[in-house]
Amino acid sequence: MRTLVCTAMLLLIASAAIAGGPGNCYDPSARAGYVCPNDVCAGNAVITEKNGNCRSCDHALAAVKSLTHVAVVLYDGVDLFDVTGPTEVFAIAGGFYVYTVSEDGRAIRSGGLEIEPDFRIGNCPWPDVLVVAGKGSSEHMRGWLDTVGKDADIVLETGGVSSGIDGALDIVAKMKGDESARRAARAMEYESWLAQAGQK
Ligand SMILES: [Zn+2]
Repeated sequence: MRTLVCTAMLLLIASAAIAGGPGNCYDPSARAGYVCPNDVCAGNAVITEKNGNCRSCDHALAAVKSLTHVAVVLYDGVDLFDVTGPTEVFAIAGGFYVYTVSEDGRAIRSGGLEIEPDFRIGNCPWPDVLVVAGKGSSEHMRGWLDTVGKDADIVLETGGVSSGIDGALDIVAKMKGDESARRAARAMEYESWLAQAGQK
């Protein structure tokens, strides 16, 4: 009986490993396809099956899996300053695929705005970097964040616009090199990080 229970447990663990944890988050097919790496282009939000050039801006498409995945968590009432600061940094730095995710994929409301997320937690590609602003998400979402956070290379918890931007620039410097981070900071006219980076 004991052996049976153990076998059943092992099977459960094995099937969880194959299925890949929460929802389809770890499904490798979620990292397939090509996307426009130009963050100001509409093609940046559209994944296509075929390689080639972007239909909107003619920029050469990039393989989705070649880009560092950044999932930005959205929920009702999330502080938008904490969200937009880091996303802007990653988008400007280049080499990142930045997407938003909410618990059920439905639009969230904050600061009088309604924002449509790219994914829900059940179908988003698994992130290399997880950006979590504040602690207002639901218990279900927090459980997901705990699980996914353990596998992510970096979890950036932001609280305040400048800490979010600083944290994102530090991540860019670490993953893509100091020059990429400096370029992004200059483009954002974010002098304080540049001054600090100069002292490093
Ligand atoms: Zn484009």
